[in-house]
Amino acid sequence: MQITIFGGINKIGGNKILLEDNGTNIFLDFGMNFEEHQDYFTEYMPPRKCNCIKDFIYLGLLPNLNGIYRRDYCKHMGLDCKQENAVDGVLISHAHIDHVGYVHFLRRDIPIHVSAETKAIMEMFSRIGAAGFEEFTDFKPSFQLIPKKTGEGLKRRDARDGKEERNVKTFEFGKKFKIGSLEILPCRVDHSLPGATGYIIYTSEGAVIYTGDLRFHGRHKEWSYEFVEKAAKAEPVVMLSEGTRIKEKEARTEDYVQSESTKYIKGKKGLALANFPIRDTERLLTFYNTAVSNGRKLVIEYRQALLLDLLREHGVKGLPKSTDKNIRVFYAKKSWGLVGRTDFPEDQIEKDYDTWERTYFARENVIDAKEISTRQKDYVMFMNYFQLNNLMDVKPVEGSVHIRSICEPFSEEMELDQKRIDNWLRLFGLYPERKIHSSGHACGPAIFDMIKKINPKTLFPIHTVNPSVFKELSGINIIYPEYGKKTTI
Ligand SMILES: [Zn+2]
Ligand SMILES: [Zn+2]
Repeated sequence: MQITIFGGINKIGGNKILLEDNGTNIFLDFGMNFEEHQDYFTEYMPPRKCNCIKDFIYLGLLPNLNGIYRRDYCKHMGLDCKQENAVDGVLISHAHIDHVGYVHFLRRDIPIHVSAETKAIMEMFSRIGAAGFEEFTDFKPSFQLIPKKTGEGLKRRDARDGKEERNVKTFEFGKKFKIGSLEILPCRVDHSLPGATGYIIYTSEGAVIYTGDLRFHGRHKEWSYEFVEKAAKAEPVVMLSEGTRIKEKEARTEDYVQSESTKYIKGKKGLALANFPIRDTERLLTFYNTAVSNGRKLVIEYRQALLLDLLREHGVKGLPKSTDKNIRVFYAKKSWGLVGRTDFPEDQIEKDYDTWERTYFARENVIDAKEISTRQKDYVMFMNYFQLNNLMDVKPVEGSVHIRSICEPFSEEMELDQKRIDNWLRLFGLYPERKIHSSGHACGPAIFDMIKKINPKTLFPIHTVNPSVFKELSGINIIYPEYGKKTTI
């Protein structure tokens, strides 16, 4: 059995781990590392679609492997597209971009194994497709000329000419499934978005444990503990463990976020704004509870409403419905900014939004800035970095507050963003924001406890900028992985 790591080494995220055993090859995640990506690209200098796979391989963003990349791109970019499929499956741990972000580049026929929740979130990316490389569940063949409808001449095939589905397979937690010679047991773990999975992979040399990202201080910490128990029983030969917060000694809980936010908002006379990760539905539930216990309603974006709907469609329970009486869906001004205006026909207002965004327009619980501005103390409003200009329309009154419930900036880019956030908050008397956050990642002692309990023969620390901290573990052989270097077990 061989393990080769192509991402997530000495870095947070971008996991791409190749496991080869007895003729079966699988990837554990196929993520994008933000920092590496931002070393070369920005919003204003995005990758070139026409040459992206070649460019990405050259820049070290994608592994230089044959038979794994989508054939439409390979053909167009002069890469060998006739090769047999070299990978039998990809196990996705969860739908954060640093774990799923480069799935877009994979061949359509590679089976992508995910939990139902992960599929729902991947579908959300596919549907919204903001950055252009997010065909995670669907597949739009590119660089093809097709006959025009009129029958004469050719035209460039685009998204309107139909799409195909990717081979996305959903598993049930706790139920084993097979990929070639491998047997896989997917286990639910607690993290900062729904559907996170830890894997136990039974190979010819023994079990391999892959933690994905996880924590032991969330609302469902028991899921992570159950995973640890099952992983220990498998008496693994190898464990790939995340170590995002390996240097931190403790962790704030999700309950802490809820009780602190509830207390903080209590008695405030203005609008309560909350910045939390847009796909973190646990945090959405936390702020929903916070709002309700303060007699307020939670105002979310239509993307969050779509996510709640997709999760419900995939059988996820325990979250409020997007139509819940305590939820409002906010329509921000877009394009011509006609929302709430009566001097334009209704159909013109809709035209400000993309087709999928219009889905919610006719709902009773839709709200605009004017209504929020008029009754500020009735609402807790979701507001992240990209929404800040809505403050202009909402105009928070005195006694309004802003809660920051996201991680602290950990790169220069994020610090610049933070400066911009501070400027907006200062302008509306919301500075300094109140920090109330619980991380999606376990702290050092919890990670050490987990590893000691699971007791693998060999440990690969990944998804961390501090791999050397793992040295403190005694009795476990630690391999500090190198990019693209095969380790034979
Ligand atoms: Zn991650
Ligand atoms: Zn994550």
